[in-house]
Amino acid sequence: AVKKAGKRGYRFFDISVAEEESSREALMREMQHALDYDQFIMYYQPRVDTGNGHTCGLEALVRWVHPVRGLMEPLEFIPLAEETGLIVRLGEQVIKKVISQLAYWSKSGYPLVPVSINVSVRQLEGGSLADTLSVWLRSCRIDPSLVEIEVTEASVARHGADVLQTLAAIQNMGIKLVLDDFGTGYSSLSQLQEMDFDMIKVDHTFAARLEDSEQGTALFNAIITMAHSLDMRVVAEGVETRQQASTLRALGCDEIQGFLVSPPLPPAEHPPTPPVTLPAPA
Ligand code: C2E
Ligand code: MG
Ligand code: MG
Ligand code: MG
Repeated sequence: AVKKAGKRGYRFFDISVAEEESSREALMREMQHALDYDQFIMYYQPRVDTGNGHTCGLEALVRWVHPVRGLMEPLEFIPLAEETGLIVRLGEQVIKKVISQLAYWSKSGYPLVPVSINVSVRQLEGGSLADTLSVWLRSCRIDPSLVEIEVTEASVARHGADVLQTLAAIQNMGIKLVLDDFGTGYSSLSQLQEMDFDMIKVDHTFAARLEDSEQGTALFNAIITMAHSLDMRVVAEGVETRQQASTLRALGCDEIQGFLVSPPLPPAEHPPTPPVTLPAPA
C-alpha cells in the first residue's frame, strides 16, 4: 500500500503500523487463551439511593487477570474484543459469572440487590442474548428482576431493528434496561421514548462539570427533569466529591455511583452493607 517506500517517513510509518497489527494479533490470541483458561473475573461497584443512602444495586465490571501484564481494565481489551467478535464469548462468560455470583450470595444468606451487566451492541445483534440470560437465570434459580442490562447510548443511537428486538425480548423477561453513558451518544428524544429504558446513567463528565459552572448544574437538572418525565430513574456516574453528591441530591437525582461511595471491588467484599451517609443538601 505504501508507494514511496524509499521515503524515510513512509517507511517509519509502515513499520509502526505493522508492529501495531502484530501486537493486536498477539493480544487477540491471548484473549482466546484467556477465555479457554478462565482468566476473566468480575468486580462490583455499588450505587446508592440519594434518599436513604442504601445500596440499591451493583454494577458488574469485568477484569482480566493477565499472567504477565497483571490486572487489566476493560478499556485495554474490550474495544479489541468488540472488533474481533470475541466479545460474544466474553459476554457469555460475564453473564454466567454474574448470575452464579448472585446464586452464591443468595445461598450465603446475603440480602440481594440487582446487579447490572454491561453488554456491547455486538451481543444484541445475534439475538441469542435473551436465551443465554434465560438459561442461566433458570439454572441458578435467580429472579430476572435481580439482573439489569446496560447498553451505552452511543451504541444504541445507531441501532438496527434486531437490536431493538433483542432489548424488547430481554425487557419482557422482567429484566430492567439501563441506558449507559447518557449524554455522549446523541440519541433523540423520540428514540428515547421508543426504547423504553427503565433507568439512565448520566456519563461521568456531567458530574465533573457540576463544580465548575452553574451551567453544569442547569444541564444536569434538565437531564433529570427529562428522564423523570419519561418515567426513568436517574443515576449519576463518576461521583467523586461530597459537593457533587449534595448538589445531585438537591436536584432530585435518584442514585449515585462513584469513588465517593466505593470503587469497584472483588465480590468477597460485597454487598457492602452499612448505608452510606450522604451530606445534607447545601
Ligand atoms: P461504564 O459501564 O460506564 O462503567 C463505569 C466505569 O467508571 C468503570 O470503569 C468504573 O470503574 C469507572 N468509575 C467508577 N467510579 C468512578 C469515579 O468516581 N470516577 C471515575 N472517573 N470513574 C469511575 P471500568 O471498570 O474501567 O469499565 C470501563 C467500561 O468498560 C465500562 O464503562 C463499560 O462500558 C465497559 N465494561 C466493563 N465491564 C464490561 C463487560 O463485562 N462487558 C462489556 N461489554 N463492557 C464492559
Ligand atoms: Mg456501565
Ligand atoms: Mg457508564
Ligand atoms: Mg462511563
